[in-house]
Amino acid sequence: MATDSYGRRIDYLRISLTDRCNLRCVYCMPAKGVPWKPHDEILTLEEIERFAAAAVSEGISKIRLTGGEPLVRKGVVGHVRRLKALTGLEAIALTTNGTLLERYAVPLVEAGLTRVNVSIDSLDPAVFERVTRGGKLTDALAGLDAAFEAGMGPIKVNAVVVRSLEQDLLGFARMTLGRPVHVRFIEYMPVGGVGGGECEPASEGWTQADHVPADEILERLTAAGVAAGIGAPEPVQRGDAPGGWGPARYYRFPGAEGTVGVITPLSHHFCGECNRLRLTADGRLRACLFSDEEIDVRTVLREGTDSDVRDVIRAALATKPESHSMRVGTTRGMSQIGG
Ligand code: SAM
Ligand code: SF4
Repeated sequence: MATDSYGRRIDYLRISLTDRCNLRCVYCMPAKGVPWKPHDEILTLEEIERFAAAAVSEGISKIRLTGGEPLVRKGVVGHVRRLKALTGLEAIALTTNGTLLERYAVPLVEAGLTRVNVSIDSLDPAVFERVTRGGKLTDALAGLDAAFEAGMGPIKVNAVVVRSLEQDLLGFARMTLGRPVHVRFIEYMPVGGVGGGECEPASEGWTQADHVPADEILERLTAAGVAAGIGAPEPVQRGDAPGGWGPARYYRFPGAEGTVGVITPLSHHFCGECNRLRLTADGRLRACLFSDEEIDVRTVLREGTDSDVRDVIRAALATKPESHSMRVGTTRGMSQIGG
């Protein structure tokens, strides 16, 4: 079992398969995109699998594939199958914008991946297009439907709440009524945008004014639910919440099959329960989303032994900070870190 210097159990690894993406969400990437890393700076799938094997031997039991958009990475299905075969790995999950999921849902299930988070920030096609700078809501919703048809589960929808986007939260609440979809509203985080970074400005710019605290999200959901006659969301006890590896708090509208949840990195930060490490697509190990401290694992994977790789993992655990201290901005954006 891996623990860090503060006694937290670290059993969850998020792997960014690529820094590339087929969308350009306003809060994640600049309009012109981020300069893609040269091919030789990106870990090969074999290198990632070797790292994952070392991580599992150090106590990691859950892996989530993310990015950039993980489904644009060639060979993703075979990669999932090989990761899934690692002895000691309990589960593997995917975070995707969903636009390619219609194509990949069945092969992914066949390869052993059923847990999926689909990021959809608005159910209004025009707002979706504006947030993603050109994405089609119908593609993401087709991906979500395909996940259900392929038998994936649990299926979650991630929606980042940004005040100036004026998202209609009730539409998401309605989504949970008829099928077991778990919508998680995520507080907008101040990631990227620090001067001198590789992708400055990382997004159109986080401002405190755009941050909507979870308490307000819940108040808005309750008011909209009551006004629409679907009632108020009730807290779901931990044991009944959809299986998760993170800190979401869940609620259910009366009679709903699915749930709504909130993820509150800023308003109620959960650093004390943080259980994760991140591997970036270019082979850096990052112990905290909000800390720019990264350890080079690519060189070790290319020049070192398996034992050297395990040493790097222990070194990262030793540097994991106690908390993010409400820090604003990071040198690399979310698509590069692997959100
Ligand atoms: N492309 C995939 C997707 O969109 O799901 C995976 C990568 S994306 C960086 C992972 C998640 O990070 C998405 O749910 C996205 O909405 C979220 N995200 C990106 N920037 C964020 C920010 N500044 N604050 C909160 N969440 C953010
Ligand atoms: Fe791409 Fe996901 Fe970032 Fe949107 S949030 S630009 S889909 S990586």
